[in-house]
Amino acid sequence: GITIIASGPLTSEPLAETIRQLTGSDALFFYDAVAPIIEVDSIDRSIAYPMNRYQKGEGAYLNCPMTQAEYERFYHALIHAECVEQKEFELTLFEGCLPIEEMARRGEKTLLYGPLKPVGLAKPGEARPYAVCQLRQDDLAGSLYNLVGFQTHLTFSAQKQVIRLIPGLENAVISRYGVMHRNTFVNAPLVLKATYQLKTNPQIFIAGQLSGIEGYVESIGSGLIAGINAARIARGSDPLIFPQASALGSQAHYLASASPRDFQPHNVNFAFFPELEKENDRKIGKKERRSIFARNSLSLLKKMQEEHQFD
Ligand SMILES: Cc1cc2nc3c(=O)[nH]c(=O)nc-3n(C[C@H](O)[C@H](O)[C@H](O)COP(=O)(O)OP(=O)(O)OC[C@H]3O[C@@H](n4cnc5c(N)ncnc54)[C@H](O)[C@@H]3O)c2cc1C
Repeated sequence: GITIIASGPLTSEPLAETIRQLTGSDALFFYDAVAPIIEVDSIDRSIAYPMNRYQKGEGAYLNCPMTQAEYERFYHALIHAECVEQKEFELTLFEGCLPIEEMARRGEKTLLYGPLKPVGLAKPGEARPYAVCQLRQDDLAGSLYNLVGFQTHLTFSAQKQVIRLIPGLENAVISRYGVMHRNTFVNAPLVLKATYQLKTNPQIFIAGQLSGIEGYVESIGSGLIAGINAARIARGSDPLIFPQASALGSQAHYLASASPRDFQPHNVNFAFFPELEKENDRKIGKKERRSIFARNSLSLLKKMQEEHQFD
């Protein structure tokens, strides 16, 4: 029959096994190891420069160069920063994925051969920096960048302090902090439609954090859409896709259309909204942009509610 699965990040092993059978073994993850994500507008572009290592490969990177003194200051802050206490089961879960502070504790120069290696990142005609922290574009709109290789157990306040020691990130606004925790979630772009139905079985919906989102309101929002759609298909109507220009719809759209290769759960974000069209080439400021999104969103949802008659 019609079923909504919303058993959350700590879904039990037997239920996870059933979900794995429904979705395929590559489509279910059991933990999250995410590097912090930074809002691009908060990166000091007079310091951070765009370049791919050896000018090769795909992707859009920004590079924050460090002198030896800057690196040493960052390094000492990192190894002494406060960490979140790990649970027993997490110790085995993360064996294959070393947090940056742990890597740093293995030796003062270890990071220079790992996430902060400077080779291939000298600006043309300039000397190679002592260390380079790379940021990789994280969303299609190019408004978010993740700190490459910065998976971490640091507390959120410690992350903020340490990241702001990186040249170019002194005023960094962190859109999502790095986390390494147990989290059961599906690779949504592979398995879910924007209606929260499984692509392989439209009678089954996955909602909440298990669908690849994060947060209280996001989970409630996904449950609302899944619930409305479950009721609709029970009555023989088509399921609804919420407009992408609303927060509810932008989240569903992100799940259904993000890149499955490096899919990561995310809180709902203005970067998920479709870009606004410029009026007479006038640049729309961030505050105004967000209030336009909010207004459009409410009017689209009201229209949809009236059209399809739900509360
Ligand atoms: C410490 C911590 C702090 C957080 N702080 C915030 C915050 O400040 N703001 C924010 O927005 N988000 C926060 N979050 C994230 C937020 O809690 C989750 O994103 C959200 O609760 C996920 O909702 P959910 O309904 O998908 O899962 P859950 O809240 O985990 O709910 C799933 C429910 O399903 C039940 N269940 C599981 N299996 C079965 C089964 N087989 N049969 C029946 N029931 C079952 C579980 O018992 C549970 O009640 C925090 C998370 C943590 C861990």
